[in-house]
This record gives sequence, C-alpha cells and structure tokens, in this order.
Amino acid sequence: MERTWTNARLATMAGNGLGVIEDGVVAARDGVITYAGPRAGAPVATGESVDCGGRWITPGLIDCHTHLVHAGDRSGEWAMRLAGASYEEIARAGGGIVSTMRATRATSEADLVAIALPRLDALLAEGVTTIEIKSGYGLTVADELKMLRAARSLDDQRRVRVATTLLGAHALPPEYAGRPDDYVALVTEEMIPAANGLADAVDAFCEGIGFSPEQTGRVLAAARQAGLSVKLHAEQLSALHGASLAASFGALSADHLEYADEADAKAMAAAGTVAVLLPGAFYFMRETKLPPVDLFRAHHVPIAIATDCNPGTSPTTSLPLMLNMACILFRLSPEEALAGVTVHAARALGLTDRGIIATGLRADLVCWKIAEPAELAYRIGGDMNCGVVRGGRVAQWPS
Ligand SMILES: [Zn+2]
Repeated sequence: MERTWTNARLATMAGNGLGVIEDGVVAARDGVITYAGPRAGAPVATGESVDCGGRWITPGLIDCHTHLVHAGDRSGEWAMRLAGASYEEIARAGGGIVSTMRATRATSEADLVAIALPRLDALLAEGVTTIEIKSGYGLTVADELKMLRAARSLDDQRRVRVATTLLGAHALPPEYAGRPDDYVALVTEEMIPAANGLADAVDAFCEGIGFSPEQTGRVLAAARQAGLSVKLHAEQLSALHGASLAASFGALSADHLEYADEADAKAMAAAGTVAVLLPGAFYFMRETKLPPVDLFRAHHVPIAIATDCNPGTSPTTSLPLMLNMACILFRLSPEEALAGVTVHAARALGLTDRGIIATGLRADLVCWKIAEPAELAYRIGGDMNCGVVRGGRVAQWPS
C-alpha cells in the first residue's frame, strides 16, 4: 500500500533541532517512509494522496516510560498524601506500590488488558505511536509474566508498538519482608530467565524504599547476562548514584534523575544513556528538587520525556501535557521537549527505526493543526485533534 502526504510543513527532528521542511511531502510504502523532503524533489505519487492543507507533520510520539498495565485505584491514597502523609509513610503503611500489587495479582490477564485499553487509547488519540510498558505490580514470577503478556497483547489490539520492560525489582512484596536479597535472587534466577521473549528490557527501582545500588547491580547484571537491555528508576528521591550504576551496565536510559549530579551526567554521556525526565511525577509529588537539566545539556546527555503513567505518582495519559510540564517545570525549550518524545525517546527504547521522519524509517506520523511546533508544548492539555499514522496506516484523521 502506497500513500503520500502533501502540502505539509515537516518537523522531521532529523539532525539538530526540528529539521523543518516547508512545503514538504512524505511518501510511504508498506509502512516504511520512501520519501520525506521538499515537494520539488518528491517522486510522482502513485497510491493514495492526502493534502495536509499546510498542517505540521511530526514523527509519531513515543512514550518511553509507563506503567500503563495495572489494576486498582489509588485516589484515596492520594487524598492521604494531600493531608500530609509522605511517599515513605504511605509505603510503610501498606499502601503505595503494594496496594496496586494486590489489585493486579487479583486481576486476570484479560481484565488487565481491558482496564489498560482506555488508557492506551487516550495516549494514542494524542499522537502516541510507540509506548513502553513496564511490569512491576505482580512481584511473583507468574504475575510479572501475566503483566508482560497483557502489555504485549495491547500491541495487537491497537497495532501499536509496545516495548515491554520487566520491572520485577519494583518493590519488595510483603511475603519477602526482611528478606530483600532472597527476593532479588528470585528476580535474577527465575523472573529474568522466564521473561525471555516477553520483555525487551529490565528495569529496577534503585531507591531507599526500593532496592539498594548493590541489589540493583545484581538485577542489571542478570539482565545483561540474559541478553536484555537495561533501564533504571534512579535518583528520584535521593542521590544513590543509580544513574552512574545504570550507565556502567550500558543502560538505554536512567529515569527520574532529580537527584543526579555531574558524575552521573558524565557517566551517562560516556555510556550513551538517555536521561528520561518525568515531569508528571515531579508535579504530582510536589517535588522541589529539579533534575540537573543544565548538566545534561553541558555533557550532551540526550533528554527524553515520558508520562510515567502510573496510579501512585503520575496518573496521566497525556504526553503533550508532559511537554508543557517539561517546559514550565524543568525549563526545557519546546524544541527540546519535542525531541524528548520523538528522537530521544526512540533512543531510550533502543529503537533505531523511528523517532525521526526519514527515508527507510517506520511511517509513524502525526499531522497537527497547530501554528508552530511550540504549540504542542504550549497548551495545558486539551483536544489536539490530530491525524495519526501508525506504520503507514491512517489510524485517525480529523475532518
Ligand atoms: Zn516509573
């Protein structure tokens, strides 16, 4: 199937910056871009041709850090936090991740899929074409695999690329209370081997209320040994140099990073590890320590942005809203924010076939009714009314 989009302003995100092409044309065959450039050099369209009416086209958006698959509800706990309880206090009171774990364990794979679909659809409606989904609320071998299978099946349900991440080392399940090393052994010796073929990467929560750097190191080492990529929740609540640890394992990304320092930034730069910033969690937790964006810029660490869609600390399904928050809260430029959900987000998932608009890459495109690309980060939510092309297929197109 051949399709051509004409009369468009392209923000290809190729090279440095937006990579703007005025009066641009994108052509695709069998889901792959065969031409992206000015109208002057475009081949003669042979298939279906769509006049974009001068609208902007960007690469499909990539949400590179989510916990989209989960059951339960945490709004009551949120009310507790509003009344003054800390993240740690809620965790120790049996709330937090463990309450989502109980609900997720009690939910079938089919029901997990059904619960996750509306969340996924909300993301897709605003231009997401690739999404990462973590496990981490099962915390047994069987329940982690159930979550990964649910995440993978969303792939077929909506013809969207789902990158799956095993986050067995998300929290210590109650049955392992006081025996964290035994649980880490379960993750390294049973979960990781069992997730082979179901998970693209392995992640862990390196934190005072999660796992120590030493325990995290064992998880990441086992993942690498199994041939899986690694990512890490690091430096969210305290400075443990988890980001440096992740970099030492060649991690695709280190995520959160409010407490990262220059040593972490240097280690990440040397390893090519992407800094994934999560402004939704920062906002929701009323965090005040800003991630060291200037250090990431100075050391040329690519910065990605994601929703961190999760029930405890970032209950959002809007990636454009995260662009706004990244600009307002973290002082990214709109251009940096857009790179953070396209080219750099692809890198955070180790995907080399997307993230920019270029010949030979996947035809994941979004056609926006905006005056300038900055408008994508300018609006505080709201209906973007965009056209979405996933793998060359038109998933939605506004009238
Ligand atoms: Zn997360």
